[in-house]
Amino acid sequence: MKILQAGALKLGIDLTAGQLSAFETYYAELVAWNKVHHLTAITSYQGVQVKHFLDSLTCVQGLVPPAPSVPTLLPQFPPWRVLDVGSGAGFPGLPLKICFPQFRLTLLEATSKKTAFINHVVQKLGLTEVSVVTGRAEELAHRSAYREAFDVVLARAVAELAVLAEFCLPFCAVGGTFIAQKKAGIDDEIRGALAALAALGGFLRGQIPVVLPGTEPRQLVVVDKVKATPDLYPRRTGVPAKKPLK
Ligand code: SAM
Repeated sequence: MKILQAGALKLGIDLTAGQLSAFETYYAELVAWNKVHHLTAITSYQGVQVKHFLDSLTCVQGLVPPAPSVPTLLPQFPPWRVLDVGSGAGFPGLPLKICFPQFRLTLLEATSKKTAFINHVVQKLGLTEVSVVTGRAEELAHRSAYREAFDVVLARAVAELAVLAEFCLPFCAVGGTFIAQKKAGIDDEIRGALAALAALGGFLRGQIPVVLPGTEPRQLVVVDKVKATPDLYPRRTGVPAKKPLK
């Protein structure tokens, strides 16, 4: 896990031997389960380190003030309630939980074979304060236990921003942060989502470029939750994707 270790350090995360070993186990389980259940197209040792593990960890750049000129380690984060929407095989939530065990993490994923894998990894790594939910964002976000119940809501590769905002912002507490991991060069998509963000109680704080070795440029779209989301959102399952808010 040398590539992960070096990349994490650049993000201000000095991985311990125990954390590196947890990532080794996660990698081995991902590859083993992938032979039976298709979970990811990325399975090489290097590819998983960069495109899954490190890419997940880049979310921290949306959780800290702009980087100081002298490289430094990250501050101690509070025990935030963190939600990963459409987590797939656990990204970005699980790598973040390995690095920041104080996070109270919920992973929401619609497909049960993927939540079975996440549960397996959580158990294998002995992670605590992790909740894995099989379900759709459109339904879960209307349950009082989940509505506006998270300090940080994350999502990677789930939907275009206007749709994703309707999935994610209802879960985010006022004062909290929603971070969408996106590829670079999607200004039209972002501009097209501004009205949706406003309708859902969000305000675009900014875009943070993400550069990882040997990958296309990416970015974090960082949204502040500035007021409560009206009760009617998210609309019922399938509607946000079919008729994105404009
Ligand atoms: N975030 C992971 C990653 O980046 O590797 C998985 C990305 S995968 C392309 C998108 C995932 O989002 C799928 O596993 C899908 O089942 C899930 N998903 C899509 N729409 C969803 C919804 N409305 N509620 C919950 N999960 C959803």
